[in-house]
Amino acid sequence: MTADRRRPRVGLVYHEDCLKHEDWPERPERLPAILEGLRQTGLLERLIPVTPDPLPEETVALVHRLDYVKSLRDFCARGGGLIAVDTMVGPDSYRAAQLAAGGAVAAARHVLQGELDRASVVVRPPGHHAVADQGMGFCLFNNVAIAAAWARRYGGAERVAIVDWDMHHGNGTQDAFYLDPSVLFISLHEVPAYPGTGWYTEVGAGKGEGYTINIPMPPGAGDECYRLAFESLIGPALRAFRPDLILVSAGQDGHVDDHMGNLRLSSDAYGWMAEFLVRLADGLGHGRMVTLLEGGYDLASLADAWNQITAAMLGDRMSPPPAASSADTVLQIVKERLAARAALPLPPGTFGHSHRRPSN
Ligand SMILES: [Zn+2]
Repeated sequence: MTADRRRPRVGLVYHEDCLKHEDWPERPERLPAILEGLRQTGLLERLIPVTPDPLPEETVALVHRLDYVKSLRDFCARGGGLIAVDTMVGPDSYRAAQLAAGGAVAAARHVLQGELDRASVVVRPPGHHAVADQGMGFCLFNNVAIAAAWARRYGGAERVAIVDWDMHHGNGTQDAFYLDPSVLFISLHEVPAYPGTGWYTEVGAGKGEGYTINIPMPPGAGDECYRLAFESLIGPALRAFRPDLILVSAGQDGHVDDHMGNLRLSSDAYGWMAEFLVRLADGLGHGRMVTLLEGGYDLASLADAWNQITAAMLGDRMSPPPAASSADTVLQIVKERLAARAALPLPPGTFGHSHRRPSN
């Protein structure tokens, strides 16, 4: 039975010790803002609470080098400090990272075992920039990649898809599965922006060639470009791949009110993208989908967008989709916005907060 024929069971994975990791602007207040938003709209009481356990080091090592994991543990235990130009850790950060990764795995496990239809993982630190031997971009462990690797190794999933709509390219996730045809990685992200990877020519390699899809978006892309990308690229790719589980790296830093970037997405667009993937997962006959929090730094728009995403996962009827656009219309929008950008100074936040500039 697919989730759309009855009330879907949607989990909310959260642990309060994720608040003990201090960083900026990836700050503890992001999680209470989301929970309070869910409470105010009445969605919170419709979610099934899931409290994760810290993920053991050997499971983190599905994606990360054990020497990195142990050195991060020891560095935090000694009090912490900067591990990258933009990423700070403290004494409680290692456990928060274990809980965030544990939350991602718990969500995948509950959904694959059929105890939940879908799950929403509201944890931090986020993960999609973390590579095998290094944390970066506010990320310590790559939560979504660990969940995908766990689902493949232990969860009975043959194929896992990851859709990453955070405004930054999910470089760590791409790295983890670049050679792997069992995990389809699709990223939409602003260019130019941190970390400078994710051009459309990066498509995977070896047996993994064709299983990495990068969709770079120009500043100012907006809802119409995202609708076209989902309908013309992402939908067909996912239907052809037939994943057993869809994981979403859900970063809301492309929101029009979020100064991290300049993608100018509405809250409705996030709800629409989530609903698109819910329906797609249902169409595959299983409905299995997990959304994991990545970026999103403006608290009000983060909470608003997460409400929309959660409503879609609960099966509520969503707002009308963004205006239908043909490829020609979107190309025209892109051309106009690129022309406007060439004529104006770049808006603040185009390159992200304290991020290094891209190399390409
Ligand atoms: Zn981001």
